[in-house]
Amino acid sequence: MNEDVDIVARKIALQLCSLMAVVDWNYNRHEPCLVCFKKYMHHIDGLPCESDDNIKPRAPHKRPVNYKL
Ligand SMILES: [Zn+2]
Repeated sequence: MNEDVDIVARKIALQLCSLMAVVDWNYNRHEPCLVCFKKYMHHIDGLPCESDDNIKPRAPHKRPVNYKL
């Protein structure tokens, strides 16, 4: 029971982070992702992973995603 609640809470937390990542784009480039612990700017689309079983590819080496495309 408690485990289920934790899993749901985790999913909601990750979804919230994704939403906030879009809203606060210019201020969260150095925030660490809750799933893979890499900074948001090191994700291929500049946004954190949305679930534990779907880790996003990294941004190209030395090309952090600092600007919206
Ligand atoms: Zn991530």
